[in-house]
Amino acid sequence: MSEVTINIEWLSDCSGCQIAIVDLHEKILNVLQAVKIQRCPVLTDIKDYPHATVGLVSGAIRNEHDRHAALEMRKSCDIVIAWGSCAVFGGPAGAGNIHTPAEIVKAVYLENKTTTPAPPPSREVSPLESVVTPIDSVIDVDLYLPGCPPHPAFIFESLTALVEGRQPEVNRCSVCAKCKRHMEKTDVSEIKSNSEGFPNAEQCFLSQGYTCMGSVTIDRCLAPCPANGVPCTGCAGATMQILTEPNRDIRTEIADRMSRLTKIDRDSIVTSLEKASKSHYSYTMATSMINSKPTFHIKKWIDEENADFEAGVQA
Ligand code: SF4
Ligand code: SF4
Ligand code: SF4
Repeated sequence: MSEVTINIEWLSDCSGCQIAIVDLHEKILNVLQAVKIQRCPVLTDIKDYPHATVGLVSGAIRNEHDRHAALEMRKSCDIVIAWGSCAVFGGPAGAGNIHTPAEIVKAVYLENKTTTPAPPPSREVSPLESVVTPIDSVIDVDLYLPGCPPHPAFIFESLTALVEGRQPEVNRCSVCAKCKRHMEKTDVSEIKSNSEGFPNAEQCFLSQGYTCMGSVTIDRCLAPCPANGVPCTGCAGATMQILTEPNRDIRTEIADRMSRLTKIDRDSIVTSLEKASKSHYSYTMATSMINSKPTFHIKKWIDEENADFEAGVQA
């Protein structure tokens, strides 16, 4: 087999996916024996795009630079992998779609409530596009590898499958499938904030009134959060059922489960999830698979939450 070459590119993101390569630890040696990484912005200052067998692209399309870089990766690579939830779904930067670029610049630079106001970026910085989108809005993608970042096990499996010339194994389970906690009926009657109290270590978070998104999140992580006492926040993105069925929705699916397990009224769970919708939909709201759903009304939910907040301040 001829040598497998890899180009890596980094669009608008936090760099966590790039660092995840290092998390392969000694397994990276197995990968490096079989491939040649020839472009890797986190390690080397390479501006051009040599031809490569595989292109790993992390990050969302947020500005003109991202669009240009994604197109260059598509032109130079035989296989393009959307790597991480930002590339696959738009990621946390998708929360910016609720505001205009001018509003974002104003809030971040000119009227930042927690730091000294600063001049906005100069004209030399690539301007923000009007919305954040996943990379498949700009280029064709051959393989989707969500996760924030994807667990090293999934990165390793994907890279070795490509090196061996086979299809990577695809796991369609939700995070619950890997979680050891027990779903059981309880008398819990109130929704809890995820930073409140001391959760039982054996029982499902939903049974205790905590919002855990494991049942609506695809497993690309082997469920570390519930194993370590923290509810899942859905960072790997929604399950295939949520993504592909127009009327299945994150908030109603969670509300159905939690209301069956506890004595909390279903509608109040739905309302609670809508009030924190920027958090609960934060990884996937930029993908058309979520924001085109007839059930998704994030601007309305946020306007209602803001109106409630203003009314509380004036009272
Ligand atoms: S998917 Fe997560 S870890 Fe990867 S770049 Fe985006 S925010 Fe960072
Ligand atoms: S909802 Fe959360 S705590 Fe409950 S089983 Fe699923 S992942 Fe585990
Ligand atoms: S358990 Fe949930 S929040 Fe934690 S890494 Fe997995 S998908 Fe992300």
